[in-house]
Amino acid sequence: MKLSLSPDDVAFRDELRKIYRTEIPADIRERVRNGRELSRDDIVTAHKILNDHGLAVPNWPVEWGGKDWTPMQRHLWQDEMQLASVPEPLTFNAQMVGPVIAHFGSQELKERFLPPTAALDIWWCQGFSEPDAGSDLASLRTTAVRDGDSYIVNGQKIWTTLAQYADWIFCLVRTDPNAPKKQAGISFLLFDVKSPGVTIRPIKLIDGGYEVNEVFFENVRVPADQLVGEENMGWTYAKFLLGNERTGITGVGRTKVKIGVAKQYAAQTKSGSGTLLEDPVFAARVAELENELLALELTQLRVVSNSSDGKPNPASSVLKLRGSELQQAATELLLDIAGPDAIPVEADDIASPGWAQRSGPAYLNYRKTTIYGGSSEVQRTIIASTILGL
Ligand SMILES: Cc1cc2nc3c(=O)[nH]c(=O)nc-3n(C[C@H](O)[C@H](O)[C@H](O)COP(=O)(O)OP(=O)(O)OC[C@H]3O[C@@H](n4cnc5c(N)ncnc54)[C@H](O)[C@@H]3O)c2cc1C
Repeated sequence: MKLSLSPDDVAFRDELRKIYRTEIPADIRERVRNGRELSRDDIVTAHKILNDHGLAVPNWPVEWGGKDWTPMQRHLWQDEMQLASVPEPLTFNAQMVGPVIAHFGSQELKERFLPPTAALDIWWCQGFSEPDAGSDLASLRTTAVRDGDSYIVNGQKIWTTLAQYADWIFCLVRTDPNAPKKQAGISFLLFDVKSPGVTIRPIKLIDGGYEVNEVFFENVRVPADQLVGEENMGWTYAKFLLGNERTGITGVGRTKVKIGVAKQYAAQTKSGSGTLLEDPVFAARVAELENELLALELTQLRVVSNSSDGKPNPASSVLKLRGSELQQAATELLLDIAGPDAIPVEADDIASPGWAQRSGPAYLNYRKTTIYGGSSEVQRTIIASTILGL
């Protein structure tokens, strides 16, 4: 195993750095770096620039805009993007529905949906989870009943991220309630969220923001040619999608940026006769976190250098589990630096700095990382069975 970069990889990385740091507007990158909310326009602008440079969907088949890159080049593409605080291409399009359509969709579906999906001319949202079907996703109850050339969809989804911005939804629906196994009767359906019978209701989160939604379907008529692949084969496509999702959320580069920001503020925070950054106990905590992150980065590089067949690796569960814990540790570090200044939230009439006021909501918001994409307990079960053979 060789973890140092070859001269070609160094040149590749430097070219990416240049594009990320000169082409993506500085104000958008600054908002990402400081953990501020991005508008729909910010996300679309950054995604379109990346797509114009061939950098939005490198994981797709080459004929649909993908790149024939080595695993190391793919790693550099994402790591450098995070280090430059560039918003990542919209995951629902680039990591989720795009690859599913490219691998399992008909030629007609590919031609109709892949170009606007890569360009973010269609904003997709993910309709998988339901009130009683999260970790146990195969228990989902939303139904799609065939009626002539259409399916009639009834049911409810929940935790649908950014559905308020979405044009279309990709949805797991039950098409055969009598299938012998609950995984067997599920299909993967695409439809416009403006179809009659679709209602989107926002959920206010603990940080005060509106990032997720409930989505209700009441007799929504969906053309049958918007089914991906074969009827009742949706579980296979969903597992493929979830493997891609997990690998993408380790967030080593993002956590490095967070720790860098925390150190910057710790250097401005008085403690005793010096600054907090000079405090030995605080410095030891930072060093430990940086070491843990380095260990995760080396594990990620090992996984990357051993996975040239393009298949999701079960080690992605280790990366998701540890990556999400370290993202949380970094937000906790910033919260502790802010101390009492973290308590007022976005209050103009209080003198505490904006970064400190935002550290509380950010800490609360990041509780999500150990839940979405498969909770930590679920990842541990996968690690126990598929890696440790227990
Ligand atoms: C911010 C956020 C965004 C999300 N975005 C989307 C989205 O866009 N689209 C979408 O479809 N879904 C989305 N989700 C849903 C997410 O996939 C689910 O929340 C997740 O799968 C957990 O399901 P649940 O919430 O039903 O919890 P449950 O499955 O009810 O789990 C509750 C608790 O029980 C534990 N548990 C459950 N089963 C087991 C088990 N077998 N062994 C041990 N412990 C177990 C869990 O780890 C958890 O601690 C999002 C979630 C969050 C938090």
